[in-house]
Amino acid sequence: MSAFSADPIIAIATAPGRGGIGVIRVSGPDLRAWAEALCAQPLQPRHAHYLPFRDRRGETLDEGLALFFPGPHSYTGEDVLELQGHGGPAVLRRVLEDCLARGAAIGLRLAQPGEFTQRAFLNDRLDLAQAEAVADLIEASSTAAARSAMASLSGAFSAEVDALSERIVQLRMLVEATLDFPEEEIDFLEKYQAADRLGAVTAALAGVLRTARQGLVLREGLHVVLAGQPNVGKSSLLNALAGEDVAIVTPIAGTTRDRVVQQIHIDGIPLHIVDTAGLRETEDTVERIGIERSWAEIARAQVILHLQDARHPDDPLDAEIVQRLPDGVPVLRVWNKVDLLPSPPSSSDVVAATADDAPLHISAHTGAGLDALRARLLAIAGWTPGTESPWLARERHVHALEAARAHLQAAAGHAAHSDQVLDLFAEELRLAHEALCGITGQFTSDDLLGEIFSRFCIGK
Ligand code: GDP
Ligand code: ZN
Repeated sequence: MSAFSADPIIAIATAPGRGGIGVIRVSGPDLRAWAEALCAQPLQPRHAHYLPFRDRRGETLDEGLALFFPGPHSYTGEDVLELQGHGGPAVLRRVLEDCLARGAAIGLRLAQPGEFTQRAFLNDRLDLAQAEAVADLIEASSTAAARSAMASLSGAFSAEVDALSERIVQLRMLVEATLDFPEEEIDFLEKYQAADRLGAVTAALAGVLRTARQGLVLREGLHVVLAGQPNVGKSSLLNALAGEDVAIVTPIAGTTRDRVVQQIHIDGIPLHIVDTAGLRETEDTVERIGIERSWAEIARAQVILHLQDARHPDDPLDAEIVQRLPDGVPVLRVWNKVDLLPSPPSSSDVVAATADDAPLHISAHTGAGLDALRARLLAIAGWTPGTESPWLARERHVHALEAARAHLQAAAGHAAHSDQVLDLFAEELRLAHEALCGITGQFTSDDLLGEIFSRFCIGK
């Protein structure tokens, strides 16, 4: 029995455009009779039936497979009918429109984005973190991200969060019991080793938070802005990193007047690299607008890659640029065109380049130093090379884990005081628990749900 029921919904589930197969999906609380009438034959649950898709007047629109999944053992937890026909937009639309016309009597309507998955969540087929993983799996831009999204979808992340919740619940039960017998309040902490338990949960949570941050990097990537004077090789570097020509490269200073964003992957981590117009004083109005935009991009950067010509490392114009860079954003100093130096940088320079602050020596033309640059970018992103994030996480998850950690720390603060106030301790535990429950969706506002599911594609 599904806990939630609503109008039957329908959508084309496959991507728009042409493909070998196109799938139309219908979900609703009680679809069997309607589905069998539509297909003009009995439908054995979970069996593929090969049949013509005929419209109301008997015209054959397509032929293909019909599959009927009775609830609750279906994707949405409701009855689901899937029609697999040919993947052309016109043919799929004809079948869809005929289904809609014949479903009018049962209130069949087009699905909203993400509505199938939302029903899966509302019917307890998936928790919220798993539902988000469905969208993340579809959107994954690298193998590593897809693998991690799949781990989240199968519940690996939810299981970690549930385990933390469980430990907090046990602690809460002890506290609540003690609150009922105020005379015992004083020894509560020693009696149940509450402080130790709290410390252990906090440590476990810190581990989950670390992994979640890695998962977030894997999902969101990092916004890197290339900054520097005209002609130092910003566009060439972007092309070298991207491995294809995305930005215009010319020997005339001031060529890149608009922003070019390229997404590249390093070890599966998406980096969004913004090439900017070279920073210099100019009389040209168009170029000046480009330069203003560059500074706006720099203000939004997560990492600034300040590129200089290795032949003029002490150029005062670069010192001016450095002066203007925003505080608190990591700046990677990179010296390009080492191939033009009379003598290539010594090996001691290369060693120094592994230190955090030293400038990296590269050549966008020969590719020298690019591996070191990639490694440095990953390090700044907080990525430990070779680690595989076991699950993908969203910013929302990281915030919830941080909130939970803050409440656990506040609880520890109350416990540390001699005049410990047990109900404050209890309240912080409750808040920590609530923050964790928000991840899997036990306590979630309708607004948040609406926002999460509206970002799905239609038919999912
Ligand atoms: P931007 O204005 O900073 O984007 O610079 P570009 O990428 O357009 O490059 C300006 C000029 O420098 C072009 O002629 C490039 O071919 C040249 N250039 C860029 N990187 C290198 C490099 O590593 N070595 C050499 N020899 N020339 C380079
Ligand atoms: Zn350029």
